[in-house]
Amino acid sequence: MELRAIPSVDRALRELSDVGLPRPLILRIVRRELDGLRARLASASAGAGDADPMARIRAAVETLRLARLQPVINGTGVVIHTNFGRSPLPGAAIDAINATAGVYTNLEFDLASGQRGGRAEYVHEALAAACEAESAAVVNNCAAALVLILRHFVTQEKPEVVLSRGEMVQIGGGFRVPEILESAGATLREIGTTNRTTLADYEKALGDRTAMILKVHRSNFYMAGFVDSPPTSAIAELARQRGVLFVEDLGSGALAATEAIAQALGHEPTPAEVLAAGADLVTFSGDKLLGGPQAGVIAGRAEQVKALRADPLFRALRCDKLVLSALQATLDLHLSGQAEQVPILAMMAADVDSLRRRAQALAERLGAACPCLAVTISDATSQVGGGSLPKSTMLSITLDLSPPDGKAEALAARLRAGDPPVVGYISGGKLRLDLRTILQEQEEALIAAIRQAADSSGGARTPGGEE
Ligand SMILES: *Cc1c(COP(=O)(O)O)cnc(C)c1O
Repeated sequence: MELRAIPSVDRALRELSDVGLPRPLILRIVRRELDGLRARLASASAGAGDADPMARIRAAVETLRLARLQPVINGTGVVIHTNFGRSPLPGAAIDAINATAGVYTNLEFDLASGQRGGRAEYVHEALAAACEAESAAVVNNCAAALVLILRHFVTQEKPEVVLSRGEMVQIGGGFRVPEILESAGATLREIGTTNRTTLADYEKALGDRTAMILKVHRSNFYMAGFVDSPPTSAIAELARQRGVLFVEDLGSGALAATEAIAQALGHEPTPAEVLAAGADLVTFSGDKLLGGPQAGVIAGRAEQVKALRADPLFRALRCDKLVLSALQATLDLHLSGQAEQVPILAMMAADVDSLRRRAQALAERLGAACPCLAVTISDATSQVGGGSLPKSTMLSITLDLSPPDGKAEALAARLRAGDPPVVGYISGGKLRLDLRTILQEQEEALIAAIRQAADSSGGARTPGGEE
């Protein structure tokens, strides 16, 4: 390949004027790609991918365009999908964000006295009510809640955090309980074994250097067989006798009985139950089974919650008015018996027959709109996800798409690059889309996206697609 084949920056920018991204962003990519190409040419390491520099630059720009945060149609059947932003918000929460986003609010102003007021006071009160706790506080996410608790209660004199080896877990990407402890300056006091920890193990580990007992809910996996660990109430009793703080990280924070939402679901411990069993503090996420925005809740004893709120680190972890607006509205739904309006709970509660009817109607319309696509319906299983109820699956229904060329992977890539992007999964050579996690109001957009992807088979670019 000859050096003169390298396009100029100006020419590249002209050719990419249709992309619809701000020019400085395109310019960065053009420069980066051209620098890379020149370096490869200089070191004689240019490869086949360098034959058409403009195509390469365009693919890089397209990858960035797709990385813009945008709505996605979730056909995976995983209800609380961390990669898709976990819980879609209830309508009331969206309205609340709309109402406060563009105007001033009483975020830290006490309207009764006309003085500076406390932040998030309503949310703290609502969380305490929902958890039947003396007091509550909210920070950015559950990981932040745990870090705050550890940094506050771990001291030089009392550096040890007692944790069962069965709970030294990793939750999602980059959240490993032992590493969180270490980063907070705590000394991990491991007890028991992977499968069995007894109350006597806890008893032996407690001493002058103990800051707290931490129990971590095994939210994203389960163990069966020769397993045992003492119930929260027994650990709480021991902690009280010995004057040691006892914190339980629940992760999911189901406010209501999950088994009542859908028969297939197991029971997830609720914050109220765990506090009633004697834990001093619990932590959980706002965007898992609560179904609200990303947030981390701390609930429990007033004295400890007050101390945490006064910690300088709490200031660094505080939520903004948009999150507080959404959380407040979501909590109001839970507290006034309208939890069925929380989208993830409605999705979990949806029965298979209604999903099948939706799938049939969609299949019929797709048959007319995209005659070249074979569309069928089949039984499937969906999951709660988000590190919640790992043992439970729900019967579900998928729409199965088979392109005429049999290349389901390519169809999947085109759908991911579409507008809006649609993500499903491949099984049995078909692209499957689980109806449980496809919002009803997305059905029109789904049909349009599938039609677009079916029409553009063959010649379409699949930027950042299967490699
Ligand atoms: C999900 C989870 C977390 C992390 O929560 P984030 O809100 O994502 O920070 C922590 N602990 C447990 C047990 C979890 O399941």
